[in-house]
Amino acid sequence: MARLAQTTGLTDVQQEILSTVRDFVNKEIIPHAQALEHGDTYPADIVAGMKEMGLFGLMIPEEYGGLGESLLTYALVVEEIARGWMSVSGVINTHFIVAYMLRQHGTDAQKQHYLPKMAEGEIRGSFSMSEPDLGSDVAAIKTRAKREGDDYVIDGSKMWLTNGGSSNLIALLAKTDEGAEKAHQNLTAFLIDKPEGFGEVAPGLRIPGKIDKMGYKGVDTTEAVFEGFKVGADKVLGEAPGKGFAYMMDGIEVGRVNVAARACGIAIRAFELAVEYAQQRTTFGKKIADHQAISFKLAEMATKVESAHLMMTNAAKLKDSGERNDVAAGMAKLVASEYCAEVTQESFRIHGGYGYSKEYEIERLMREAPFLLIGEGTSEIQKTIISRGLLRDYKI
Ligand SMILES: Cc1cc2nc3c(=O)[nH]c(=O)nc-3n(C[C@H](O)[C@H](O)[C@H](O)COP(=O)(O)OP(=O)(O)OC[C@H]3O[C@@H](n4cnc5c(N)ncnc54)[C@H](O)[C@@H]3O)c2cc1C
Repeated sequence: MARLAQTTGLTDVQQEILSTVRDFVNKEIIPHAQALEHGDTYPADIVAGMKEMGLFGLMIPEEYGGLGESLLTYALVVEEIARGWMSVSGVINTHFIVAYMLRQHGTDAQKQHYLPKMAEGEIRGSFSMSEPDLGSDVAAIKTRAKREGDDYVIDGSKMWLTNGGSSNLIALLAKTDEGAEKAHQNLTAFLIDKPEGFGEVAPGLRIPGKIDKMGYKGVDTTEAVFEGFKVGADKVLGEAPGKGFAYMMDGIEVGRVNVAARACGIAIRAFELAVEYAQQRTTFGKKIADHQAISFKLAEMATKVESAHLMMTNAAKLKDSGERNDVAAGMAKLVASEYCAEVTQESFRIHGGYGYSKEYEIERLMREAPFLLIGEGTSEIQKTIISRGLLRDYKI
């Protein structure tokens, strides 16, 4: 095995896309990531480069102007990008989830309207389920959409919208009156068009400023406050009220593979930094890589990187095959995010005091890794999904 995290059986097209993205990451992302991240600066030039490469349309079907690639290709691209800087993958992740939900569940008119512009990156999506009082317990959503003639009127507060300010389309989950007994069957997904920016962006919709985060800087994460916001009934995803929970969960499975891929990317980078530093730093008359305590750390880190990569690609392939992948995506997300936190921590330790300096990349990775334990469902929620699936499949 020459390098870690290699994927066998890729087509020529997949290999070409990945090699182009890897070059872009090495030349345009890694050299600028530290400065942009420390300044909490939106990576506008990098985003423009991604648009040029067609990455916003990676999974959008060719008939709508996209590249029509698989979830596996997308996940491998995300892994490469997160190896450079996780925030850049954050810019495209919510966009992909929304494009995927439209592709799978949108009406023909919705697909025709949104997908070509999304493929060009002209329309950029964000994804909003969480609220100030809930994240894991999605069915408890309080934001309400009340039907009034041909419109719905939306009231409520949303929290943690990644790309909330920089997107111009929000896929929003809100409560509607479907008269269903189960709470999740009264949830509806809406396509909310809005201008980019902050403040009162549309009548009845306010995007307060960016939330100041520990890491994952550059990309904006916001609240969204709806007060009497009007949206047409034709903006219900799939024109199917009450199906929003199922549609969002389908999107979240794509999101989970994405988060696993990001975790793989960060862990690969943390390993690369550690293995390089360990061969440069000398203590007690030898390279620290020659102390068995350090070389064993490298061995464990590499094994974790490799396992996470295999589980992540397995989950992506399963979804591509049309099979149910809730358990595989949950397992991949759980393992990749937990291993990422461990590998990053070990790389930090190998760097000694320098790991604590802002001059070294590892300090940034240390602040990024914890988010992956939370985003798209915490580890506890992944274990809930995995165990539920196991008891379903092993039912006696
Ligand atoms: C930077 C960032 C970006 C985000 N981007 C988005 C976004 O774009 N769109 C979006 O909708 N959301 C987004 N989120 C929200 C994210 O999905 C939630 O934070 C996450 O799902 C957890 O929800 P919570 O924060 O409400 O925690 P809670 O649900 O309150 O959980 C708190 C703790 O309790 C545990 N817990 C909860 N329920 C159970 C249970 N049944 N059994 C055992 N333990 C349990 C959790 O694991 C956790 O440890 C983002 C969050 C962050 C930090």
